[in-house]
Amino acid sequence: MSKNLAEKYIEIVKERNPGEPEFQQAVEEVIRSLEPVLEKHPEFEKAGLIERLIEPERAVQFRVAWVDDSGQVQVNRGYRYQFNSALGPYKGGVRFDPSVNPSVMKFLAFEQIFKNALTGLPIGGGKGGADFNPMGKSDGEVMRFCQAFMNELYRHIGPYTDSPAGDLGVGPREIGYMFGQYKKLVNRFDEAITGKQIVYGGLNGRAEATGFGIVYFANCMLEANGEKLAGKRVVISGFGNVAWGTALKLEELGAKLVAFSGPDGYILDEAGITGEKIDYFLELRNSGKNICQPYADKFPGSVFVPGKKPWEVEADLYIPCAMQNDIRLEDAKNIVASGAKFVCEGANMPTTNEALDYLMQNGVIVGPCKAANAGGVACSCIEMGQNAGHTVFSPEQVHAQLKTIMVNIHDSAAKAAQEYGLGYNLVAGANIAGFMKVAQAMMAQGVV
Ligand code: GLU
Repeated sequence: MSKNLAEKYIEIVKERNPGEPEFQQAVEEVIRSLEPVLEKHPEFEKAGLIERLIEPERAVQFRVAWVDDSGQVQVNRGYRYQFNSALGPYKGGVRFDPSVNPSVMKFLAFEQIFKNALTGLPIGGGKGGADFNPMGKSDGEVMRFCQAFMNELYRHIGPYTDSPAGDLGVGPREIGYMFGQYKKLVNRFDEAITGKQIVYGGLNGRAEATGFGIVYFANCMLEANGEKLAGKRVVISGFGNVAWGTALKLEELGAKLVAFSGPDGYILDEAGITGEKIDYFLELRNSGKNICQPYADKFPGSVFVPGKKPWEVEADLYIPCAMQNDIRLEDAKNIVASGAKFVCEGANMPTTNEALDYLMQNGVIVGPCKAANAGGVACSCIEMGQNAGHTVFSPEQVHAQLKTIMVNIHDSAAKAAQEYGLGYNLVAGANIAGFMKVAQAMMAQGVV
């Protein structure tokens, strides 16, 4: 019985990864939706496919020692989890945040396998990071940290091995310092790192790609349900790179963004968050303070609601763009109570499994992150191709490709769910569609 089989794998994950709740949560969510697939494909059990899939192919943990501005030595912990290379070299971001630990790294790397598979591009899944907080650090400190981090990471990466990029706490500045050190150490200018600035090989449109892709995906969800994005009232969380790109595209497509959040609370701006207000996200982010209060001071008419999450604000569409487990059961109840029909996940695993079940049981259509936010990594892969081909792609070329990729991801997730008789269930469909690609490649490559 496949139900027992899925439970068996979930038990294995819990037993083998004690004290790693984020990783257990990510695996459980995927494995449960694979039940009908495992039933249809008994060969996967025989091949130990799931047992292999839930075990990282390789993991490195390393000391990152650096000197702060006062001359004091600081020690952080660096990681790279190379989870699955069935479809291509490991690919995935690097996160610098105090919350980084093996569980967070493993959940992100595991999710990345399926996300990358869904793009249809030749990339495996990996993730890295450090428990370093760039907030409040000087430029010199960030540079010395990035160089120290790369002094170890460089030996594990490369365009045909593993290609890191940005994530939370890692933007163009950090990528620049890491790339500079990588190049110095390997004496090669290659495509091992993506998310670079345009002037030295970065991709036109990579910065906004994740957010644009999320809105393209949300648009597909609405259209598949006979609705239009234009005129819809939208609430997002976060104000980082993903939130910024999302806000830009929402404005362009005529949706009305009324709230965003930071760790200190949320901003409600009934006049709509557009134009210079969206530009201000970049200033907030670069302020190194990571708070949204200054927005309320700058734009009269907006309201700062301290210590609260924006999920209590009524909307038609919610797009969490901050961190994992941002929408919990009580937030899901608020969302359902507001009569919203759509949640499109921008951040990685922003919804707890409990909240996800509640939303879906109450008729909310959820666009899962591994599908909806895949535009960022897809453009990273396009950046690798641009660098390998010693060429430059125009913003128009990139955006056209991104849009096609997002529509394809939506359609393949919807189709996979249909095939298994699950209706319009993008959460299960994305898991199934991504998994099938990885599974076929793993079956073809033997027990390795
Ligand atoms: N960190 C992003 C993600 O979660 C991008 C990864 C990449 O571009 O390699 O997908």
